[in-house]
Amino acid sequence: MECRRVVDAAACLAALRTDGPFDVVVLQQSLGSTTGFHLLLAARREGYCLPAIMLTEKGSERVAAAAVRAGVADYLIRDSNFSHLRALPSAIRRVLESRVTGPGRSNHTRRVEAIPPSDLRHLVLIDPLTGLYNRRFLQQSLEREFAAARRYGYPLACAIADLDHFKRINDTYGHLIGDEVLAKVAGLFQSNFRAPDLCFRFGGEELLVLMPHTSPRPAVVACERFLQTLRDIPIATSAGDLPLTASVGVACLHNDNFAAPSDMLAAADVALYTAKRQGRDRVVLLEACGPLNVKAA
Ligand code: GH3
Ligand code: MG
Ligand code: MG
Repeated sequence: MECRRVVDAAACLAALRTDGPFDVVVLQQSLGSTTGFHLLLAARREGYCLPAIMLTEKGSERVAAAAVRAGVADYLIRDSNFSHLRALPSAIRRVLESRVTGPGRSNHTRRVEAIPPSDLRHLVLIDPLTGLYNRRFLQQSLEREFAAARRYGYPLACAIADLDHFKRINDTYGHLIGDEVLAKVAGLFQSNFRAPDLCFRFGGEELLVLMPHTSPRPAVVACERFLQTLRDIPIATSAGDLPLTASVGVACLHNDNFAAPSDMLAAADVALYTAKRQGRDRVVLLEACGPLNVKAA
């Protein structure tokens, strides 16, 4: 086994760019000014899918569980007897074996489909702050996805997430911290959804995801998972860890319930507004016929 040791998150990203791919990345949850979790998200935003084993402190199992939900392959709890180090080789073996046997799993630090910054399309289609697709690309994608879903008769879900009381963060800590929060939440958002799902920055602090082949119930579950991650993990910024919640409105095209993409978008927007009115930090699904589910499990 060949090992490469790096001292911080920036060096880890640099090593991925220059020396990858790696079969396994072992990292701590606590990395000084950042966290292992945010390092994974930063890597994900550059298109690296990391098979990571995370070392967490005793008592931070909830964070570790959230990290596993967001794609960490395994985690080990550090203890003073160093038993986590004895458990490390078998954890590494499990990750390597799952790479070989897991159906459809791409468990090495490959780049996923991303438009490289050198590509001119990057300037036109990618929002520079969040790294998500911008509204211009949404326009094209929405029409295309909507037409395909209708033509081939599969469902298409659309969800709009709006950060709760985001203005307070700007007012309290300034716009630069607000920007940091926005970029990190966007990373969490993107990593919450599956590879075929398309994530956009819809407006200021509004994110949107299009989920092809996804019916209302699984779409609500996926959005609930995103909100749970936000609840579990405060956003690490240079002003400290800031707790944050979001509200989500979901609409889903199925059985020709929407005549045009703009109708589906409008329904998701109404659902979002309903989520805000009902107290925020929740997912609301709006079918063409009216609000159905108010709070998912
Ligand atoms: P609500 O829970 O009702 O959504 O409250 P809110 O404060 O999030 O909503 P409001 O619409 O009042 O404020 C949105 C804020 O988002 C105000 C705006 O300055 C901020 N915002 C929008 N885009 C950006 C951005 O790119 N960077 C920063 N830092 N702030 C932004
Ligand atoms: Mg808001
Ligand atoms: Mg808003």
